[in-house]
Amino acid sequence: MSALDTTSTPPLPIDARSLQLESALQLLQQAGALLPEAEPYSQVWLQGVLDALCDLSSKDALTGLSNRRSFEMALAREVDRVARSGEPALLLMLDIDHFKAVNDTYGHSAGDLVIQAVARAISQTVRPMDTVARVGGEEFAIILPNCPHSYGATVAERLRERVADQRLEVSPGQQLQVTVSLGGAFAPQWVRSSPLLWIERADRQLYRAKAEGRNRACLEPHVDSLVSAEERGMLFAVTQQDSE
Ligand code: GH3
Ligand code: MG
Ligand code: MG
Repeated sequence: MSALDTTSTPPLPIDARSLQLESALQLLQQAGALLPEAEPYSQVWLQGVLDALCDLSSKDALTGLSNRRSFEMALAREVDRVARSGEPALLLMLDIDHFKAVNDTYGHSAGDLVIQAVARAISQTVRPMDTVARVGGEEFAIILPNCPHSYGATVAERLRERVADQRLEVSPGQQLQVTVSLGGAFAPQWVRSSPLLWIERADRQLYRAKAEGRNRACLEPHVDSLVSAEERGMLFAVTQQDSE
């Protein structure tokens, strides 16, 4: 399959257009997405269908957060931005502790409610510019662009506390509390790294948080960049020439 190039794609014949719209509507129906309320086939309605398709491909159905695919795209963009701007950026990986026991004790639907509540707690704790994604069953990733090194541990701890303080009603009169473990790593500044390496470094810290007893946040110790101011200037000049 090749990448979609809308500039060289000839206009679709009318029949093909209606066929494609039909498949798109079927896809939305299967996913349980709501169709727009506007007059069917009006411009507003078509835009609504397009928006719903975009959501379907980029958002996680259970929580409404970014899905793994759009997280990976956002992370690749952030790696690129850090290499160009040198701004500090933090990646946090978060995993609910002993979540299997929640499912086993209260049932899978209660487990789903817990995942949704943790997703809300994370979204309400970070800035609108941060990307929050559900990247696995009970695993989340948070990209924090322009996050000073001195702020990393504070934000990770704030997330941990926010979840631990929350009482979740999983059925009438039945409340429970869960904890989370977090691992974090800053992107190497002024150096082009890879999204995969960045995830591995944050994951290693998450593993450490689990091994050290859970309900805690571990961040990779920060080492000041060894790149001199002059080298930074040179690097910046090169990347600017590249983009011209
Ligand atoms: P740890 O503290 O080491 O993270 O232990 P854990 O029990 O949280 O970890 P484990 O990976 O063993 O369990 C994760 C469980 O999450 C297993 C799986 O059944 C459950 N799970 C995965 N996706 C979903 C989902 O969408 N909904 C619900 N309710 N459960 C899910
Ligand atoms: Mg897990
Ligand atoms: Mg877990």
